[in-house]
Amino acid sequence: MSKLCQFNGGCMGCCGHDFTSEESISLAIKSNTKDFNKLKPKTKQDYLKFRDRFPKQNLQYGVCRNLIYQNRSRHYCIGCPLHPTHHHDEDLRIGHCDHLFLCPSAKAFNQWQPVTQQAFLDFVKKKELSNIQYSIEIASGNLVNNFIYQ
Ligand code: SF4
Repeated sequence: MSKLCQFNGGCMGCCGHDFTSEESISLAIKSNTKDFNKLKPKTKQDYLKFRDRFPKQNLQYGVCRNLIYQNRSRHYCIGCPLHPTHHHDEDLRIGHCDHLFLCPSAKAFNQWQPVTQQAFLDFVKKKELSNIQYSIEIASGNLVNNFIYQ
């Protein structure tokens, strides 16, 4: 886990692959959110039903079928409803995705000194990226490279 995963409205850079555009990613997340809101899961079984409504390899526009828009303190973030924070520490992602994966950007960030980490977060903030743009740039390594070679 890295601070980068929660930063800038939430990162979804590792919740899929072969992303095409911000627009198609947003469409996929909206469609997942619609399914989620229709099901309104409450129990663990409900959440598993949501998770298993498609096979795990079945992505939409390269995006995981579980990724949704979540309203946190009246602020829309991208998040995974299977995450342990929603299930008393039980991780419903296990067996569905590589929940321990850490991208090269997050690995690099975790090794930096706090002062460098803060400088990077300020660098990102100034760019005013949407959370999807942020995710794409984190997953590609562009933000870290631009920060290092600025
Ligand atoms: S792409 Fe990297 S920063 Fe983003 S959620 Fe995955 S591990 Fe975290």
